[in-house]
Amino acid sequence: MSSILVTGGAGYIGSHTVVELFRAGYNPVIIDNFSNSEKSVLKGIESITGERITLYTGDCNDADFVNYIFESDPEITGCIHFAAYKAVGESVEKPVEYYKNNINSLLVLLTSMMQFNIKNLVFSSSCTVYGQPDELPVTESSPVKKAESPYGNTKQICEEVIEDTVAAAGEIKAVSLRYFNPVGAHPSSQIGELPIGTPNNLVPFLTQTVAGIRKELVIFGDDYDTPDGTCVRDYIHVLDLAQAHVKALDYLDKKKNDSLYRVFNVGTGNGHTVLDVIKTFESVTGEKVNYRVGTRRAGDVEKVWANADKINKELNWKTQLTLKQALNDAWSWQKVLKNRGKQ
Ligand code: UDP
Repeated sequence: MSSILVTGGAGYIGSHTVVELFRAGYNPVIIDNFSNSEKSVLKGIESITGERITLYTGDCNDADFVNYIFESDPEITGCIHFAAYKAVGESVEKPVEYYKNNINSLLVLLTSMMQFNIKNLVFSSSCTVYGQPDELPVTESSPVKKAESPYGNTKQICEEVIEDTVAAAGEIKAVSLRYFNPVGAHPSSQIGELPIGTPNNLVPFLTQTVAGIRKELVIFGDDYDTPDGTCVRDYIHVLDLAQAHVKALDYLDKKKNDSLYRVFNVGTGNGHTVLDVIKTFESVTGEKVNYRVGTRRAGDVEKVWANADKINKELNWKTQLTLKQALNDAWSWQKVLKNRGKQ
């Protein structure tokens, strides 16, 4: 059984991917420094899979530590790199920390992969690289726009670093997955998103509002050029997104070329407004959302959704789960957190 190193494997998308790797017959090996995740996530994963997880607690910026893991586990054949800071607003305030952490950890990982002859890399990228695209739905060949934030810029730079490394080294095969908006939780309610402090993202803010933790949800603007004036995004169930990583690894495994770099959008292909999300949540859960319309949020793009033809065709991946399921799962997870006295 081949082992896959999952950096940031205790995080939101990482933990769901670990579950899907198990289901697909891989042996995931987690590395996490728990700077933005919790040890309890491991229990959640193990209760779904019924298997013990190998965990290395530490930082991907620590080259000795990463080398030690590759040395200790010669079965590792590939890596999925999630570990990164991800708060857009914070990145504007602490750009140096974002550049240092997000870029250096990738450099350490690539260096170590080359040293230990590990060929396959899947990188966690984002549709933020497109900014406000000129044409919708957005394809992978749409131009990469100047990043709106240091966080977005780290994703662009990391993609370039990988592309250049693949071209030069001729040893690494890599896929960058450009995520649209991941939402929801595992249908078992054993794992899900664990926002620290006040959530920035729509769905955790919404579920916390309905749970009575937040007073009201503010819609950031309703004067956009969209069907109801609120912004449009492509919301994808986190479990579908997790499966895309497994498909990417399968794909890399099958490609025998020495050198390969591919980029894929991971979205549903459907756009939904903020009001759509609220209304869908209300209809699927029977709960009322206390919301009001506020002003626009700086840096928000008006509308973006994916053209997912490339990943559908080349990785044989398609979304299986709907926005309704995602919102239902997000709500079930929120209730579990509340019962745990968390949030
Ligand atoms: N949004 C909102 N209120 C909130 C959080 C988000 O109206 O409290 C909107 C935001 O303007 C965007 C959409 O919800 O149109 C998704 O935002 P999120 O932060 O979840 O993801 P983003 O697309 O910004 O990465």
